[in-house]
Amino acid sequence: MHNHTPRISKSQYLRGLQCPKSLWYYRHRPDLAPETPPGRQALFDAGHEVGVLAQQYFKTGIEITEDYLATDKAICSTQKAVADGHIHIFEATAAAPDGAFSKIDILKKVGKSDAWDLVEVKMSTGVKDYHVDDMALQRHAFTGAGYNIRKSILMHINNQYVRSGDLDLLALFTLADCTEQVTSRLADVDGHVARLLDVIRQQKEPDVAPGDHCFSPFECDYTGHCWPTHPPRSVYDLFPTGPKLNALLARDITLISEIPDDFRMTNRQQVLVQACKTGQVQLDPAKIQKFLLSLKYPLYFLDYETINNAVPLFDRTRPYQQVPFQFSLHVQNEKNGPVNHVEFLSTEKTDPRPAFIEKLIAHCGTKGSVIVYNKAFEKRINDELGRDFPQFKPALNRISTRMVDLLVPFRSRHLYHPDMNGSASLKSVLPAFVPHMRYDTLEISDGGAAAQLYLSCLKDALPAEEQQKVFDNLRVYCGQDTLAEVKLLEVMYGLV
Ligand code: SF4
Repeated sequence: MHNHTPRISKSQYLRGLQCPKSLWYYRHRPDLAPETPPGRQALFDAGHEVGVLAQQYFKTGIEITEDYLATDKAICSTQKAVADGHIHIFEATAAAPDGAFSKIDILKKVGKSDAWDLVEVKMSTGVKDYHVDDMALQRHAFTGAGYNIRKSILMHINNQYVRSGDLDLLALFTLADCTEQVTSRLADVDGHVARLLDVIRQQKEPDVAPGDHCFSPFECDYTGHCWPTHPPRSVYDLFPTGPKLNALLARDITLISEIPDDFRMTNRQQVLVQACKTGQVQLDPAKIQKFLLSLKYPLYFLDYETINNAVPLFDRTRPYQQVPFQFSLHVQNEKNGPVNHVEFLSTEKTDPRPAFIEKLIAHCGTKGSVIVYNKAFEKRINDELGRDFPQFKPALNRISTRMVDLLVPFRSRHLYHPDMNGSASLKSVLPAFVPHMRYDTLEISDGGAAAQLYLSCLKDALPAEEQQKVFDNLRVYCGQDTLAEVKLLEVMYGLV
């Protein structure tokens, strides 16, 4: 293989299978490359953590350490590791004569034969269809390079594993033999590689219209470039695709405010259209009254923050389990009365749940409504806490049965502000109704960032003074969520 012959990596192959235009942009238009989206680094770190454990699973092995750009060197190092008799070669690299090349997480020797198994590590909890394309390209690259490949194995996380003591790597991972699925797809790889290398050679971008494929199996990096931008409150906000959108566009209607009154829509859609047309809050007073009358004082406004690491960090947790580490609680004894704030944030490096449960039960009282925003989440956490700490199950269940979901009136559009822009999330609802309370001015402004920063503290990845700052910012963020619930309830009382 000479350097001037185009090559295609596994990730480029998968990109090209999703959309040839995306591959062409990747190779020819580095200027269009999007900025690293928030959370990408965290995902990378999590993948690295799982990758290291996967190597430990095989106990011994040699790692091919060349940079991913130094493909030829990595191929030579792999061949040397094979010649030296290694039986587990991590990050092994091979290229087929047609230019397709790939790394494999573990190249594993089969006994004393000359055959090898390909073991690919994924953070998922099962085999996905796109993994089969991934493994087919790997098999194509290694077979094409002359390796005798026996099995294609996907090594993924077993989400049924419950940690007890040291990590049990044999239980944490599941090895799924995908050889049959992969070999049945192998016949197509030659054609795909040839077609995608042609795409790379073209001077002009391929003509591909944006569509559903832009989001499946992953959101494409170039949606900001390919998708037309719409003015605020356009009909696309209401009908992203489909016959209703086409019917409106056929009548030259592009703004929600232009939709005629007789256009057939659901009640929820009508509420949004009326809000856009009038610029006024839309309200169903009877439904809001009913909601308010269902509340029983004292009110407990509650919110949890959680982490869900792929690798269980504590005993009695499973992979990806949501582990609560913080709550905020505003308590109001009577209508329009003062509110008291209580909070809990675990700042230890140990399992936060025992102290979390104890403080929660101590401060939630025994009667009165517990107001949450998206009850399914907090209830699920309580259910899992009750499962893992059965002695507290009855008390946690009693808190769950008192829960009232403040999301419901907003999601049902019994109360709708035009600035909610179709979303009932607290991040949209709060600034619409209470403009001086925003999230975008906070250091931590969403649950994902809260979880990532807290994990960095737990894993000692931040200096002590930065950890302190993170804890302070977490308190502000979680406290705002429950104060938001207090304020939104005040808004509702003021409207009926
Ligand atoms: S946004 Fe859609 S059409 Fe554009 S490159 Fe990506 S997948 Fe292709």
